[in-house]
Amino acid sequence: MYRTHNCGELRKKDIGEKVILSGWIQNIRNFGSLFFIDIRDYFGITQIILSKSLLTISLGKEFLIRINGEVIERLSKNYNLNTGEIEIKVSKIDILNSSLPLPFSIIDKTDGSEENRMTHRYLDIRRNLIKKNLIMRHKIFLMIRNFLSMKGFIEVETPVLINHTSEGARSFVVPSRNHVGKFYALSQSPQLFKQLLMIGGIDKYFQIVKCFRDEDARSDRQIEFTQLDCEMSFVNENDVLIFFEYFIKHIFNNIKNIKLDTFPKISYFDAIKMYGTDSPDIRFGMKFCELNDLVHKKEINYLIKQELIVGIKIKKCKCFYTYDNINSILDNIKKLNNENFFWIKYLPDKTFIYSNKSFINKEICSIFIEYFQSNPDDLLFISYGEKKDARNLLHKIRLEIANCLNLINKKIFKPLWIKDIPLFEWEEKNNRYKSMHHPFTSPKEEDLQYLENNPENVRSKSYDLVINGTEIGSGSIRIYKKKIQNIIFKHLGLSKKEIESNFSFFTKALTYGAPPHGGIAFGLDRLINLIEGDEDIKNFIAFPKNNDGKDIMINTPSSLDMDKLKELYLR
Ligand code: ASP
Repeated sequence: MYRTHNCGELRKKDIGEKVILSGWIQNIRNFGSLFFIDIRDYFGITQIILSKSLLTISLGKEFLIRINGEVIERLSKNYNLNTGEIEIKVSKIDILNSSLPLPFSIIDKTDGSEENRMTHRYLDIRRNLIKKNLIMRHKIFLMIRNFLSMKGFIEVETPVLINHTSEGARSFVVPSRNHVGKFYALSQSPQLFKQLLMIGGIDKYFQIVKCFRDEDARSDRQIEFTQLDCEMSFVNENDVLIFFEYFIKHIFNNIKNIKLDTFPKISYFDAIKMYGTDSPDIRFGMKFCELNDLVHKKEINYLIKQELIVGIKIKKCKCFYTYDNINSILDNIKKLNNENFFWIKYLPDKTFIYSNKSFINKEICSIFIEYFQSNPDDLLFISYGEKKDARNLLHKIRLEIANCLNLINKKIFKPLWIKDIPLFEWEEKNNRYKSMHHPFTSPKEEDLQYLENNPENVRSKSYDLVINGTEIGSGSIRIYKKKIQNIIFKHLGLSKKEIESNFSFFTKALTYGAPPHGGIAFGLDRLINLIEGDEDIKNFIAFPKNNDGKDIMINTPSSLDMDKLKELYLR
C-alpha cells in the first residue's frame, strides 16, 4: 500500500492515528539525530519527523518516499498550511525513488529560467503555480461543457487532417504515405465543418478543439492552441451576442465571483476612431479627439497639411514635469520609428513645456491647451500624418502611458463587442481583397447593394469580443446562399477552378436547404490567461511550445532521416 491518506489531508482530529503517506521531499531540516521533512504530493504538504537511525542512505530534495508513522500534534503550528497543526512521527521509511540534483527550485517564485523549466516541464508542473493553473483550466473546461450542454449544445469532433487552402493563416501540411505526392493540412479551425453540421440539421454545436496555425508564435499566441468553437442555427447577430455575453458573464461569475457589466457594443469604425485599434482597452479613458477642424480654423502651419491630427489628454498627470522624464515614457515608442507626434505639458504655474518640434511654439500650445479644456498638470499627446499611421501611433502611446502611470487596474475586466467590421480589406501586396474575418461571413443586408461593385463599402455581420485590450473571441453570421458565397470567392481572387477544387463540396451543401446560422470561437488559452491575470499563456498549457514554436523538451520540430523522407516521397 502506498498511502492511507494524501499529504494534504490530515488534521488535528487524526492525532493518534497510524498512517502511511507517500510524497516528494520538498524540504529537509537537519537537527542532528532528527530530521524535519516536508513531503508533498498533488494534494498538499505534510511535515514528518524522522529519526536518523531509520535511514541507511542520505535523502535529497524530490526523493520520493513512503513513510509509516503516527499523527502527533505539532508544537510550533503553521497556520498557513492545511496540515499545519499536526506532523507524523515516522516509524518506517522506504525510498520509492531517488532524484538527481534539481535544475531549479520547485517553489512558486522559482529561480528556473524559462528554458530550464521548459526542458524539465514535468518538474515545473510539480510547482504549485502550474498545477493550480492546470486545475483551473480543467474547471473552466468542465464549466463550459456543462453550461453549453444544459443550453442544448452538443459537442461534436471534426477532422484535424483536412485540405490546405490558400485562405486565412498558413497551415501545417502533412505528407501522405499512402497517396504519393499528396498532402493533408492540419485544421486551422473547424469553420466549414461546423457550418456543415448546421446544414446537417444539428441545431447547436460546440467543441473544445486544438487548432494549428503555422504563424510566428508570441507570448500570447501558440502555433497549436485551443479554441472553444460554437455554432447555432436560426440565429441573427443579436441572438449570438446576447447568448455569449451571458455565457462569458457566467464563467466570470462562477470562477472569479466577478459580476461583469453589460458589454458595450462599438462599431469597428468607432473603435478605430476613438482608440486607434479594433481591440481597445477601455479600462481607462483617454479617448481620441480629432483636431483637423481646429488646425484648419487656426491655420496651424505644417499640421494643416496632414491627413489626420489626433490627440489625447491625460488628466492630472502629476509625476511628469521635466522634458526628460516625459520623453522617457516614449522610449518604447521610439522603436516604432515614427516621430510624428508631440506633447504639451501644462504646468501648475500655468506655463507649459512641450516637445522640441520646429512647428510648435507657445501660441500653438495654448490653442491646444484651451481646446482640450486642460487644467494644470494635464498632459496632451498629439499625433499626425496618414490616418492609419497617426491612429496607430497614438494607440501605442495611449497604452504606454497607461502602463507608465499605472492607470490600468489589473483586477477589473471590461469586455466589449466590436461590430460592423468591414467585409474586406484591400491587400496591397497581392493586389486583391482579403476577408477581414473569413470568407464565410455574411455581408450586412443593407450593404448588399455595394457587394458587386464597391465591396470595400460592405460591412459584415461579424463581431469580436475584446476584453481588456485582448481579442478573446470572434465570429459571424454566415453566408447560407451559394450565390453570395460565390461572389465573395470571386472578390477574393479565387478562380472558378480554385472554387471548384477547394470549396465545391461546401457550396454544393449550401444548395440543399442550408439554414441561416452563425457562431463564434473563443481562444481558450487566452481567456483563461486573462481571467487569471497572467502575462504568459504558456503558464496555462501543460506542454506549450516556446515563443519560437519549439518544444525544447521533446526537441520538436526535428529532422527526418532519409528512409522516412523516401517513404513519404519527399526525397
Ligand atoms: N472560425 C473562426 C476563427 O477561427 C471563428 C468563427 O467565425 O466562428 O476565427
